[in-house]
Amino acid sequence: MSDARIPFAIRKSDHKFVEVSDVERGQRCGCVCPSCNQSVIARQGNVNVWHFSHDQNAIDKPVKECDISFNSCCRQYAIELLLQGEINKLCTPDLVISEPCHTLEGDEWTANVTDPHTLENITAKTTTKYDIEISVGSYNLFLFFSYKDRHLPVYPADKTAGLLAVDITSVETEFYSQKTTPGLLKELLTKLMAFDTKHKSWLYHPREDNVRAQLCKKVQQEAMSYVPEETSTVIDVNSMIYQSFLRAGI
Ligand SMILES: [Zn+2]
Repeated sequence: MSDARIPFAIRKSDHKFVEVSDVERGQRCGCVCPSCNQSVIARQGNVNVWHFSHDQNAIDKPVKECDISFNSCCRQYAIELLLQGEINKLCTPDLVISEPCHTLEGDEWTANVTDPHTLENITAKTTTKYDIEISVGSYNLFLFFSYKDRHLPVYPADKTAGLLAVDITSVETEFYSQKTTPGLLKELLTKLMAFDTKHKSWLYHPREDNVRAQLCKKVQQEAMSYVPEETSTVIDVNSMIYQSFLRAGI
């Protein structure tokens, strides 16, 4: 079994995700590993960061090979907090797209698709393709929790829907950099969802295609109306002809 020090487990009594700081110490925690279902022990020492570890003496044995990781558990925990409405605020980042400029090498045209927003009182639903579905006015917003080794999903078939990637790897760094306190993971995830735009990026925004089409049109119009600066060359050529006329005494 993996000896990963995971601060999450599933409580046997109600099958809910719990943090190590929210349960009793040792075997009394009454929890199992979210991956392999083996009983775990809550380690709440004074030296190491608090964590769960598999109870090697437990009667219940793993139901499968354990592949537990902080990020995969963190993802499941975030989904649960959103579904239960314990996290109900989401800030979204801006999205600026760009197209290369034909007339000035290395330069590019940019257009703003959306500004940062904060969505209050969100209601989350389960979804099969992504991690969470949120209704925003007349369109749907899908969330995808990203971390290393997790493949990014394909764009939504419904072009009126948005797809936002939320990088949850920062939570692990923050968790292990401070003292374990009750509800710390929930606090870090709430902060990530509600106030952090740095770790979010639009994989697809419903206005993106339209804004890009307009931007491409603008770039093409600019390219068509572009007149190369040949004036100096013309003058040079004329000047050369003039000089040769002078020399020829014409
Ligand atoms: Zn396990």
